[in-house]
Amino acid sequence: MDFSWTPQQEQLRQEAREFAADAVARYGRHNDSWINGYSAEFAHELGERGWIGLTWPTEHGGGGRPAIDRLIIGEELIAAGAPIAAMWFADRQMGPALIGFGTQDQRDAYIPGILAGRTTWCIGMSEPNSGSDLASLTTSAVRDGDDFVINGQKIWTSFGAVADYCYLICRTSSDGPPHQGISEIIVPMDTPGIEVRPIKDMTTNLHFTEVFYTDVRVPAHNLVGVEGNAFRQTMKQLEHERGGIDRLVSNRALFEIARDRADTSHPLIRQELAALETGYRLGRTLVIREVLGQAPAGFSAATKCFCTEHEWRVAQFAARVLGADAMVWDDITRGLVYAPGYTIMGGTSDIMRNILGERVLGLPREPR
Ligand SMILES: Cc1cc2nc3c(=O)[nH]c(=O)nc-3n(C[C@H](O)[C@H](O)[C@H](O)COP(=O)(O)OP(=O)(O)OC[C@H]3O[C@@H](n4cnc5c(N)ncnc54)[C@H](O)[C@@H]3O)c2cc1C
Repeated sequence: MDFSWTPQQEQLRQEAREFAADAVARYGRHNDSWINGYSAEFAHELGERGWIGLTWPTEHGGGGRPAIDRLIIGEELIAAGAPIAAMWFADRQMGPALIGFGTQDQRDAYIPGILAGRTTWCIGMSEPNSGSDLASLTTSAVRDGDDFVINGQKIWTSFGAVADYCYLICRTSSDGPPHQGISEIIVPMDTPGIEVRPIKDMTTNLHFTEVFYTDVRVPAHNLVGVEGNAFRQTMKQLEHERGGIDRLVSNRALFEIARDRADTSHPLIRQELAALETGYRLGRTLVIREVLGQAPAGFSAATKCFCTEHEWRVAQFAARVLGADAMVWDDITRGLVYAPGYTIMGGTSDIMRNILGERVLGLPREPR
C-alpha cells in the first residue's frame, strides 16, 4: 500500500496552505475554525474558488473532484485557523443530504446558494430532553393543508442566530416505535414564530443558540425525503458529520504551539510528542478510509471517537507544557477550555462506543 501523496495532491496542499495563511492574515486566526470562525465574506471567497461542494457531482453544480482533495483543503484551512464556519455545515452535510434525499426543486432552490457560500445552515437536532437519544425528540410538525406547522424547542443549535436555514429534525407522527415518525424539514430562519436565544459558552463564543418554534408554518414541499422515515437519512447525515477531517485537526495549531515551546530534552515529553504525532497520523488514516468510502458502515463512530479523543489529549498536553501561559485568558486558554466539547458534539464518545459495539461489531445489547 502506498501512503505517499501524489505531486498533484502536494501541490493542492501547498495552494491551500498559502490561501489559508492569507485568510488568517486578513480575518484573524480562529481556534476550531470550522465551528468558531464565522465569516460570511470568507465563505463567499471559498465559493468563488470552487472549494464548496468540491466533491459533489457536476450535474448538481459540484466540482466532481476526488474526496481526498476536500480532505487536503479542509485539513489546511482548519489547521491554520481560517474562518470556514459560515459554509461548513452546508458543505459537509446539508448539500450531500439534499443531493441524496431532496427533490430536484429543492436542489435548484438551495444548492446554488450553498455553492456560492451565500447561505449559512444550522442543524436543529438536539432538544433539552433529547440529545444522545435522538429518537426521543418531541418537536412536532403537523400537516395543515399545504403546510407543516412546527412547535417545540431545540438547543445547542450552532449558528441559529445567523443561519438562513435550519435543517430541522422533527416528529411528524407519534405512532409506532420512537425512531419512526421522524422527518427532516427545511425551515427558513426568518419564518414568523421562530425565537432565537443565543447561549454564551465558557470560552465566550456565541455560536450556540436555543431556538423556540411556535406555530411556525412552512410549505409541505420543504420536507426532505420520506415523511416519517427520516431516521435513516439522519444517520447518513451523521456519518458525514462524524468521519471527516474536522474531527481531528480542530486544535492542530494548539499542538504546534505546545510542541514548539516544549522542553524536548526531556525524554517523557519526547515520548508524548511522538505519541501525539503518531495519533494524529493514525487518525488521518481513519479519516481517509471514511472519505474514500472504505470504512465499514457505522465505523465513522469509531473514527469520531478516536479523533476527538486525540484532540482532547492534545489539549491536556498543551495545558501541561504551557504551564502558567495557559492560564492567561487569551487565545490559547480559549483553545484549551473548548476541549471538553470535542467528545460531545456530533455524539458523545459513550454513544460512539455503543454504536461500534452494537452496530459494527454486533455485540449483544445490555438488557434494559
Ligand atoms: C460544540 C457543540 C456544538 C453542537 N452543535 C449542535 C448543533 O448545531 N445542532 C444540534 O442539534 N446539536 C448540537 N450539539 C449538541 C450535541 O449533539 C449534544 O450535546 C450531544 O448529542 C449529547 O447530547 P446531550 O448534550 O443531550 O447529552 P445527553 O444525551 O443528556 O448525555 C449526557 C451523558 O450521558 C451519556 N449517555 C447518554 N446516553 C447514553 C447511553 N445510552 N449509553 C452510555 N452513555 C450515555 C452521554 O455520553 C453523556 O456523557 C452541539 C454540542 C456541542 C458540544
